[in-house]
Amino acid sequence: MADEQQYDYDVLVIGAGPGGYVAAIRAAQLGLRTACAESRETLGGTCLNVGCIPSKAMLHASELYDHAANGAMTKLGIKTQVELDLETMHGQRRDAVKQLTGGIEYLFKKNKVTWLKGRAAFQDAHSVTVGDQRVTARNIVIATGSSVTALPGVTIDQQVVVDSTGALELPRVPDHMVVIGGGVIGLELGSVWRRLGAKVTCVEFLDQILPGFDGDIRKESNKIFKKQGIEFKLSTKVTNVAVEGGKAVLTLEPAQGGEASTLEADCVLVSIGRRPNTDGLNLEAAGLAINQRGQVEIDHDFRTKVDGIWAIGDVVPGPMLAHKAEDEGIAVAENIAGQHGIVNHDVIPSVVYTWPEIAGVGLTEEVARERGEVKVGKFPMMANSRAKTNHEPDGFVKVIADAQTDRVLGVWCIATVGGTMIAQAAQAMEFGATSEDIAYTCHAHPTHSEAIKEAAMAVTGKPIHI
Ligand code: FAD
Ligand code: NAD
Repeated sequence: MADEQQYDYDVLVIGAGPGGYVAAIRAAQLGLRTACAESRETLGGTCLNVGCIPSKAMLHASELYDHAANGAMTKLGIKTQVELDLETMHGQRRDAVKQLTGGIEYLFKKNKVTWLKGRAAFQDAHSVTVGDQRVTARNIVIATGSSVTALPGVTIDQQVVVDSTGALELPRVPDHMVVIGGGVIGLELGSVWRRLGAKVTCVEFLDQILPGFDGDIRKESNKIFKKQGIEFKLSTKVTNVAVEGGKAVLTLEPAQGGEASTLEADCVLVSIGRRPNTDGLNLEAAGLAINQRGQVEIDHDFRTKVDGIWAIGDVVPGPMLAHKAEDEGIAVAENIAGQHGIVNHDVIPSVVYTWPEIAGVGLTEEVARERGEVKVGKFPMMANSRAKTNHEPDGFVKVIADAQTDRVLGVWCIATVGGTMIAQAAQAMEFGATSEDIAYTCHAHPTHSEAIKEAAMAVTGKPIHI
């Protein structure tokens, strides 16, 4: 075993997404000599460059446009004449990305993290090449993230058939966009272009959208999106996409088999999931292999089976979420430094940033019931004074608690500010709260968050406002 001093770095992180850049900064804060290899032109990974941030920039702008253009403001006494300036909308998206990715570069300099520009590939367990440079490190953290899953036989040309990156950049509003996959990306980016004027059809293989979310939430979201004008073809699979003269013809088949039909579109968004990035990493040279889902396996402390190699974020099992990657980044750096970095994977919130937002943390009612007896409290946003006053009646909050101990097992909501509301539920669950703890916590009035308190009161059958 080489002496520690022979290594170029104490920690080398591969990938500067929210997992990798956070791990690198925390490692440097803890006094470790740290480098981070990133092959993109800018830091921040999928999240800052082509994911969370640019999608939220388009969601925010298109939401305001929709409110103004589609009459939502007239009932507030605001008359508007609205015109879409798509290029400026794209400009503010690019600007947000530029500022935030530049911010990470500043944080690297401030914390003395060395950015090694280029693609990293393992030579052995303690050395990698980055471009034509060879670098050694006592610890290496794989944080290479994920990429779009391709649909067999469908070519993404980023003109007519696009992935999420192409769908963020469309130069004009499509007449008809077909979204393949009713998951988070399909619903967020489908909503953007529906708001800006496209007809949107969502084709989903399963019998309901948003797999993994609570059953009531899935059903209610589907109703809300339909009301907003998105058309759904559930239990349907796309078996072919033929492109000719700027138009696509999709072949659809019932998921369980049956007669095929066709659908025409001038834009097709493929959003059927993402897969871990390990191509070209040369994992074998380090003694590692991927599992059947293409992921790098880790233990509770983010260690791989090879001593000194760790892994976090989208490349490891678990939900592909930026905040999960960030928390793992902090924990892995603390573990490398000999501290006790922990992530509670039972309490990772999930948010779909549509209008209204769809959010949840913990168990779905279905899974909770499989595990034991539960009590459930629900409260409609229609009965929440702030939501009602703001003309935001859609949605509800649902609190699921253990029938014996009253401990909160899951909280789900559809509400315009659901993504912000869910933070209190996550914190309460992290502290092991009961539904009674939430019900007896004073919530400011009038706020949407009072609906969480009322749903918690409903667990024992005693909400006030319904
Ligand atoms: P990534 O962010 O994918 O970063 C990995 C980095 O590693 C990349 O920059 C890549 O270039 C680099 N890399 C890969 N291989 C190598 C190599 N061999 N050498 C050097 N560098 C390499 N999540 C949320 O929580 N909230 C959201 O609102 C949200 N919105 C999203 C919207 C879209 C359109 C998409 C696509 C994703 C969204 N996500 C969201 C998911 C989120 O972006 C990911 O979960 C998160 O970025 C994962 O972080 P990571 O650090 O594991 O990997
Ligand atoms: P997803 O897994 O959320 O949804 C994919 C959907 O496509 C599923 O409903 C699946 O049943 C369906 N599907 C799969 N194959 C199909 C086929 N052949 N035909 C029709 N439907 C098919 O994946 P996504 O929406 O691509 O998002 C990828 C990842 O990015 C997710 O893991 C998500 O966590 C992350 N993300 C998160 C956010 C957020 O947190 N707000 C936003 C965007 C993306």
